[in-house]
Amino acid sequence: MSDILIIGGGLAGLTSAILLQQNGYQVNVFEKKKYPLHRVCGEYISNEVLPFLESLNIGISKSGYSRINHLAITSVSGKILQAELPMGGFGLSRYKLDQLMYEQAKRLGVEFVFERVDNISFKDDKFTITTPGNRVYESAIAIAAYGKRSNLDQKLNRSFFYRRSPYLGVKYHIKTEHPGNQIRLDNFQGGYCGLNKIEDDKFCLCYLSETANLKRYSGIPEMEEEVLYRNPYLRSLFKNSEFLFDKPEVINEISFEKKTLIENHLLFCGDSAGMITPLCGNGMAIAIHSGKILADSILRYAKKGAALNRIALENNYKFEWGKQFSIRLKSGRLIQQLFGNTFISDMTLNILNKFPDITQFLVKKTHGETLKY
Ligand SMILES: Cc1cc2nc3c(=O)[nH]c(=O)nc-3n(C[C@H](O)[C@H](O)[C@H](O)COP(=O)(O)OP(=O)(O)OC[C@H]3O[C@@H](n4cnc5c(N)ncnc54)[C@H](O)[C@@H]3O)c2cc1C
Repeated sequence: MSDILIIGGGLAGLTSAILLQQNGYQVNVFEKKKYPLHRVCGEYISNEVLPFLESLNIGISKSGYSRINHLAITSVSGKILQAELPMGGFGLSRYKLDQLMYEQAKRLGVEFVFERVDNISFKDDKFTITTPGNRVYESAIAIAAYGKRSNLDQKLNRSFFYRRSPYLGVKYHIKTEHPGNQIRLDNFQGGYCGLNKIEDDKFCLCYLSETANLKRYSGIPEMEEEVLYRNPYLRSLFKNSEFLFDKPEVINEISFEKKTLIENHLLFCGDSAGMITPLCGNGMAIAIHSGKILADSILRYAKKGAALNRIALENNYKFEWGKQFSIRLKSGRLIQQLFGNTFISDMTLNILNKFPDITQFLVKKTHGETLKY
């Protein structure tokens, strides 16, 4: 019996775990992979969560992150838009960031179970998880922070799972010549690619593409040559960089559809509650922020030693989540439609180059307020 069970040890799950354990709860995190690990992610993190991460004492200030305050967007025809990022962000690999958070959670006493959860049930006011190792875990509160898509979505019969998603994500770490303070987004037909500096003078190169692009060619290298290289910036980047992985990290079936926040009292957070399009570079900040909002709701309505007010907890979480993220996720879906198509992205860059105020308005729509702690 534990106080809180968390499925998924990404940024959302680890944030909730650290905050709840710090406040006297015994937390168990179930994670199917071992740290440190590479994830498909652009690794640009909005500054809105930097002070909060500093407050968690994970050692973020010594991580060697890069500071990013400038944006460039290019189109297939070679047009470029440049803009300042008023809030800005920083670049740090998930390999390092998730490891730092995991180490802090462990120091605080969070218990990690490195197994894949195949089932979770709710009966008689408690959750039960049975792992493949046949151990049984029970608690009054359970959090689903297992990311954008998981075997559990099918088990829980979540409707988005049955709709095919047309996107795949690919990531490399590279060494290249590029301004350290600039995040660049290069468009190509059916997708876009992000480039920004992370720690140790490395860069993260990560792109989202329609799966149809890959189906047309025999593999990822062929697709890159035939589709991505049509943007002269991408061609030059791929030709003039040192690639540090043997092969890219790849994921399929990325969905930006609306998801449910609570199902049969199971509380979802991070990508499993809803994912912002990567173009906005804000999924990590939202994962961290939602982990914090959820922990705050639990601390308020499930005080240790007092009766659990499940209805108030769920209502409070729904209200706070909607207030923070509903509009941002919607804006992300709309902004994504302006890019990823050769003609439309060219036209968008023409307009944005003429009206810098619109660029700043769109940037603001995707970044949140500084997360208070
Ligand atoms: C192509 C691409 C580029 C992106 N670029 C950026 C960017 O530049 N900036 C940004 O802020 N965001 C970006 N994002 C989004 C960002 O990566 C996510 O929003 C963020 O990782 C969400 O964190 P999370 O904790 O919700 O999920 P995750 O980090 O995915 O963690 C979920 C964890 O759950 C575990 N898990 C899953 N199922 C089970 C199970 N059954 N049992 C046990 N464990 C399980 C997984 O192993 C994983 O560790 C990008 C996303 C994509 C696809």
